Amino acid sequence: MKAKKNILFVASEVFPFAKSGGLADVAYALPKALSEHMNVDVVMPLYRSIDRKKYNIQKLPKGFQIHIDAQEYEVTLYQCTYNAMQYYFIYSPILCDKEFLYGTPESGYDDNALRFCIFSHAVVMILKDKKYDLAHLNDWQSALVALLLKEQNSLKTKTLYTIHNLAYQGVFEKDVLPQIGISEEFFHMDALEFFDQVNFMKAGIAFADLVTTVSPTYAKEILTQEFGCGLDGFLRHHRSKLVGVINGIDTEFFSPSSDRALRYPYSNVTRKALNKNEYLKEIQLKGQKKPLFIFIGRFTWQKGVETLVEVLEELGSMKCNISILGDGEMKYHSALKRIASEYKNINLQFGYDESLSHRMYAAADFLLMPSVFEPCGLNQMIAMHYGTTPVVHKVGGLSDTVEVIESCQRDKRKGCGIVFDVLSKQTLLKSIQKAIALYSDRSKHTEIIKHNMKCDFSWQSSAMEYEKLYKRVLNG
Ligand code: ADP
Repeated sequence: MKAKKNILFVASEVFPFAKSGGLADVAYALPKALSEHMNVDVVMPLYRSIDRKKYNIQKLPKGFQIHIDAQEYEVTLYQCTYNAMQYYFIYSPILCDKEFLYGTPESGYDDNALRFCIFSHAVVMILKDKKYDLAHLNDWQSALVALLLKEQNSLKTKTLYTIHNLAYQGVFEKDVLPQIGISEEFFHMDALEFFDQVNFMKAGIAFADLVTTVSPTYAKEILTQEFGCGLDGFLRHHRSKLVGVINGIDTEFFSPSSDRALRYPYSNVTRKALNKNEYLKEIQLKGQKKPLFIFIGRFTWQKGVETLVEVLEELGSMKCNISILGDGEMKYHSALKRIASEYKNINLQFGYDESLSHRMYAAADFLLMPSVFEPCGLNQMIAMHYGTTPVVHKVGGLSDTVEVIESCQRDKRKGCGIVFDVLSKQTLLKSIQKAIALYSDRSKHTEIIKHNMKCDFSWQSSAMEYEKLYKRVLNG
């Protein structure tokens, strides 16, 4: 029997320890799905906000110093077992003792380049200490590992780098280079240089053995100027090693029939309705018979919040309820707050609340996802799994996971929803009107809900694709 391969999965956030978005969900669920066939350990920073007691996170005797630009940084390693998975945590005061993970909603921390350079160096130390066949790196925060490994001739660890969102590249002024101890020799257009600045993500793309992104459509989109965020040319240059693999959701955690956040766990449409009743009471909205729309997510341009705000002005006087949960840029907070205060059928909740989001997925009839771009998107899959019909802009992963109702092939890996090609106030409004019409056609809507709830959005088949990609890298 062949020995199982050893994989180190490197991420800057992992559910349930720290989460700002979909990366955390992926970094929890994908390693778990992979662990059936390989040995997978996960490593992340031990942020101050992580509850060490709750997860029984223990300090390891091993610690080390990292030397960067004549400075010494003390790094301590921690470890815990959670749901039969092994997690390593890297602690260094600069990296971890902050209020937020990466910065305020308005801007990143000034020392982010140094913070995640320390993180990457520490990952390399772990790779030196314990033999891993492959390191799976994620987003700009761990991209430097691919470059640092190139400088370590003795280490044969292969790398796979995943881009979860090309809009966040980790771009810094070029004078950080000496401060983070990276040689000037990497400051050229085939490596870190990006319009005379330093771009961490370029290190992952240039030096990893294989690059993936989180949906096949996004893998094509990022090669174009419209979606390439300035890296489309660079990505086209590396296109032979770029693959799109659709994300999944953890169907054990996101399971309407056993979800602990729900008063009425359910597996059918009739019982789902109890959750709507309950939630409307919770947020003090009237109208069990009116369709309930939800929006959950970061208040950023990417998520189409501008269009949402425009449309809300109209929805306020329509026969429906809307419940919004999220956090993000102040300008969107103010705009949403103003509208919500004007209309009785709009409920707005700020903040990040996992349990509340589950109650919303369970209660709603429709999920609004008017994203300008969407690398994969998890909300639409969670929503469909909870029998909530998505209303989405046909981009990225939304286009790979939601099919137009009229031409829906009832594929097991694709749900049905209301899909619009071009994002504008008019198209979103028209789609919402379509949703309201669908809602009044009870039998048609029920049939769609039933199909969506039966779809397979689990990690299983995507994990198998990753396994094949790991083998491709390991076999050279
Ligand atoms: P992102 O671009 O933010 O990574 P994804 O769709 O990939 O978006 O993943 C979003 C994940 O975060 C989903 O699990 C969603 O339910 C969750 N989420 C987003 N915002 C909130 C919030 N304010 N409260 C609770 N969960 C949230």
